[in-house]
Amino acid sequence: MTVPSLCSPVVGRLEPYVPGEQPRIAGLVKLNTNENPYPPSPRAVAAIEAAAREGLQLYPDPQSLALRETIAAHHGLEAGQVFVGNGSDEVLAHAFFAFFQHAGQPLLMPDITYSFYRVYCRLWGIAPELQPLDEGLAIDVERIAARAAEGACAGIVLANPNAPTGMGLPLSQIERLLAACPQRVVLVDEAYVDFGGESAVSLVPRYPNLLVVHTLSKSRSLAGLRVGAAFGQRPLIDALERVKDSFNSYPLDRLAQAGARAAYEDVAYFDETRRAVMHSREGLALALEDLGFEVLPSQANFLFVRHPAHDGARLAAALRERAVLVRHFARPERIAQYLRISVGTPAQCDALVRALQAIV
Ligand SMILES: *Cc1c(COP(=O)(O)O)cnc(C)c1O
Repeated sequence: MTVPSLCSPVVGRLEPYVPGEQPRIAGLVKLNTNENPYPPSPRAVAAIEAAAREGLQLYPDPQSLALRETIAAHHGLEAGQVFVGNGSDEVLAHAFFAFFQHAGQPLLMPDITYSFYRVYCRLWGIAPELQPLDEGLAIDVERIAARAAEGACAGIVLANPNAPTGMGLPLSQIERLLAACPQRVVLVDEAYVDFGGESAVSLVPRYPNLLVVHTLSKSRSLAGLRVGAAFGQRPLIDALERVKDSFNSYPLDRLAQAGARAAYEDVAYFDETRRAVMHSREGLALALEDLGFEVLPSQANFLFVRHPAHDGARLAAALRERAVLVRHFARPERIAQYLRISVGTPAQCDALVRALQAIV
């Protein structure tokens, strides 16, 4: 891409992330961006409405202290061990800046994972070193641990459960990585952990090099509010605060702080909706297997599937013609035959299955 000479040269070298499309098509069954099919907690919505009625002329709390206290209590931590940002994407950007710029040393990450990690590497001039998934598309922990132990690196980043495979690692494997890389940060992005994964937040008090990142966009149905969090020991959180306050003192507005707090407090609603998604996921996996799909084991709110007799790109296009949107990644080659399908409501899952029955 050419950029005008008015721009800083680095702008031309960026490779921006391309999010899944958000089209406005009536009656669309939207299963392409892993949003929660259920609305947020009514208590979160009420808190946002109340916050909108009072005090918007004032700046929000730059420390988001009440929210951090609520989130910390939920996880048995202290507020000083919690960082919050404008979506976990912003939290990740600050974390890459704060922890992974080490004079050209490479950042270890799976070759197939959340594609935003490489975008941040470009932004901050960090060299990614891609570690191939194993034959079953699982993260090859032994390989990454061996690489980290053998020579200098800037750290390790991975998503657990991984995206777009949905496959999770047990905590013992995360501990293996933490032990292999004691001199650098191991960042575990747990965007999908509430749908059946094992969270590493419980390891925070024991590992000074662990940073765990969460989002309210998936399991708390608040993708539109933009709130993410990071968990780590105080020196890591202090570093993130320094970066944040060098960039934007008020990343979370008053509505976001109030709504996010109420969403964490409504544990019953959180449990009810994530259980509904997990239940639908199991039903959808069986229905897709009946249609001849191979379905990777998922601990997330999406399935990663392929059909031995149907091309992935063509399937995605045929579904789109039937107003069903799923995500297809043309690259890397190894996953080009797969579709990533977000788990919808039972009605959305039925619509997807009916469309696929007509296609395959
Ligand atoms: C969705 C997602 C995010 C981004 O979440 P936001 O809080 O909406 O920015 C981060 N990491 C992974 C792996 C995701 O799938």
